[in-house]
Amino acid sequence: MHDLVGLCDCGKALEFGGAGSGANRELRCDCGRLHDVALEASGWAAVAQLTPERSVPVAGFSRELRAAADAERFWFTFPLRGDVALPVHVLFSRAERTAEVKAADLKVRHFEDVDLATDARRQWIGWWQSTHRPHRSRGPSPVVPRRVGRLPVSLAHRRPAQPAGR
Ligand SMILES: [Zn+2]
Repeated sequence: MHDLVGLCDCGKALEFGGAGSGANRELRCDCGRLHDVALEASGWAAVAQLTPERSVPVAGFSRELRAAADAERFWFTFPLRGDVALPVHVLFSRAERTAEVKAADLKVRHFEDVDLATDARRQWIGWWQSTHRPHRSRGPSPVVPRRVGRLPVSLAHRRPAQPAGR
């Protein structure tokens, strides 16, 4: 069985397999992008790509972490609302083992004991999924505040046009 190869957005081929243990690992391309690869039934597969960025939006991120000597900044996309993928920003210090993650207009989330930037993404998504239950779940959620305004209403609920008179 040969290693699976994937393509980075920069066009470079990456080997996902090889020696090592664990269900997932982080690969860094020469271009700086990070790839979160996971061992799935069919073999190693890319789960996510984190793209380096020069700066994160300043608002919300802590001054300490932004000032860390080894601070790295990445972004990835996540379907925060509906199916539209929005950018999520990661500020990470390997030395501090600390990451801060901010998506859209949400508050920055702070994570400790983070060894990899891709782990920060996994932890953030875990947090997001734990606080945002599917809409079909019943009862009020204790975590998600009730939103003001109307929920989206399906067009199917519109009154059908009157049939032509007989
Ligand atoms: Zn690359």
